[in-house]
Amino acid sequence: MRAAVRLLTRFALSDVCSVCLAAAPVADSDVCARCVSRLPALPTPRCGCCGGPLDGVLNACGECLRAGGRPWEHAVSVFPLTGVVRELVHRFKYQGHTYLAPFFAARMAESWHRHGCGAPDLVVPVPLHWFRHMCRGYNHAELLAGCLCRHLGLDLGRHVRRRRWTAQQALLDFTARQGNMKDAFAVRGNDRLSGRHVLLVDDVLTTGATLAAVTQQLREAQVATVSVITAARG
Ligand SMILES: [Zn+2]
Ligand SMILES: [Zn+2]
Repeated sequence: MRAAVRLLTRFALSDVCSVCLAAAPVADSDVCARCVSRLPALPTPRCGCCGGPLDGVLNACGECLRAGGRPWEHAVSVFPLTGVVRELVHRFKYQGHTYLAPFFAARMAESWHRHGCGAPDLVVPVPLHWFRHMCRGYNHAELLAGCLCRHLGLDLGRHVRRRRWTAQQALLDFTARQGNMKDAFAVRGNDRLSGRHVLLVDDVLTTGATLAAVTQQLREAQVATVSVITAARG
């Protein structure tokens, strides 16, 4: 964890591109011209249920409609999970490239200002199981949440924990993902959550099964509003 913080500090203060760590950033940005040109963008208008693109005339996309809506109030995302973003998320999550946290978080904050709804009271990351956290050395969602807190001037709340080991969602199909998340999370510090607006953070929203399971636990802790923010919509 200390190594991750050192990396974050080093590159957050650096004047090299925060994606490729090679070229100089373009003016008023932390990213070089080549990286800017390679980053895919989500189109507007956006689906308020998942943060992804709208594919019809309704306010929710086809996937959210088929899911029967989402258990949270509002969701915001930054990138489609394609091209270089898919590669960056993979490096960030699995290969220790923690220097990407400030890059993603800056854009998540910007997207929240543009597409967000209401005023969250605190930022809560989706937790990793303690063993996976120990093996990986960091929780990518917590790194994003920490940086996001600084942008939004909010506190970080480590109120959710993994109650049991779960298979990696990325390896499962839609139905298996729902079952895999059943009773996977527990919430503590309910007195500090009751009646609050929580901004729940993860790297990617794919089927939304993980975020839905955490939202359900937050509801049981009497959280009034749950908003979701992710770096990418899968
Ligand atoms: Zn670059
Ligand atoms: Zn949607």
